[in-house]
Amino acid sequence: MPSMMKAVVKTKAGPGFELCEVPIPRIGQHDILIRTRATSICGTDIHIYNWDTWAANRIKPPVIIGHEFCGDVIEIGEQVASVQVGDFISAESHIVDHTCDLCRTGMAHICRNTQIIGVDRDGSFAEYVALPAANAWHNPPNMPSEIAALEENFGNAVHTALETPVVARKVLVTGCGPVGVMTIAVAKAAGARSIYASDISEYRLGLAKKMGAHIAINPARENLNKIVLDDTNGEGVDVLLEMSGAPGAIRDGLNLLKSGGHAVLLGLPAKPFEFDLANLVIMKGITVHGIAGRKLWETWYEIRGLLRSGAVNLEPVITHRFKLEEFQKAFETMMSGDSGKVVLFP
Ligand code: NAD
Ligand code: ZN
Repeated sequence: MPSMMKAVVKTKAGPGFELCEVPIPRIGQHDILIRTRATSICGTDIHIYNWDTWAANRIKPPVIIGHEFCGDVIEIGEQVASVQVGDFISAESHIVDHTCDLCRTGMAHICRNTQIIGVDRDGSFAEYVALPAANAWHNPPNMPSEIAALEENFGNAVHTALETPVVARKVLVTGCGPVGVMTIAVAKAAGARSIYASDISEYRLGLAKKMGAHIAINPARENLNKIVLDDTNGEGVDVLLEMSGAPGAIRDGLNLLKSGGHAVLLGLPAKPFEFDLANLVIMKGITVHGIAGRKLWETWYEIRGLLRSGAVNLEPVITHRFKLEEFQKAFETMMSGDSGKVVLFP
């Protein structure tokens, strides 16, 4: 067993990452060590790469980036009984304390002491990752690595799309990045009557259609408001699934949501912004749902159900593959907008 490994590290405050040689992590008695097979880039990694206000307030360098991955367990701590050496796992990236009031009342996904790998502690853009055995999710041995790496992020989409009923409803998905297009696929599988999708990247609008959007609209070039209102008898949509974090998209989405509708928000704005709370939320009597991570562990069972039944096929979402060393090119590809999911292979 070597003692050092390659990892993509946020070495200091400011934009960018560096490829470093760092020690292979040590494990505690409740932990496991995983050899990474595949790890994918999330929109959140872009916030960290760019060092926006959110990242600057949250990240304490140096930290190894990355939280979506799968791999093989190569070592287990003395107290670990639920995982064995050789298991093929994906992982819940949120490490929770299991003891706070929220964990103890069925809301561990918003645990008071959540630590996210690749954000608050070392993550998966590396040859090896250590984490508590309680965070492992077992995969069937024949599951493709790149799909297994995507399960965590797919869980965000599943959590968002299943937060409020969409069956027979009209749904608007704002933001067709990888999470947005996976959300479209789940909303379709869950029986949405029509799905409108918006993005400012033509490439991503194409992907949105592939994943099940009925109408894909570019608000930078088309009149989103008019197109959706014309198609909904002037009523607007029943459910907004906000997957961009872009202030303009959030305003557009709330504006097109019917009074009494449900807004489910996952996208993270890069910084605080102003919007018309009185007219877009309060006087419309809408319900707003904030989505953080995945419900533990309900969402993971839904991920399994949707993938194994074939109700959702994630293959079209993965558009680019790079070696870990090529992370720079991988991030540029993801940030160009001309990509779906970008996967790195250590
Ligand atoms: P992404 O950055 O690839 O996707 C965002 C998309 O929004 C892009 O395709 C972009 O072109 C589009 N967009 C920008 N302005 C727009 C506008 N005015 N109208 C419509 N679309 C617009 O990121 P992703 O990986 O798909 O993640 C989506 C968001 O979700 C990110 O903000 C990410 O940080 C956040 N996220 C949140 C959680 C959570 O637990 N809440 C988990 C994962 C990701
Ligand atoms: Zn807790």
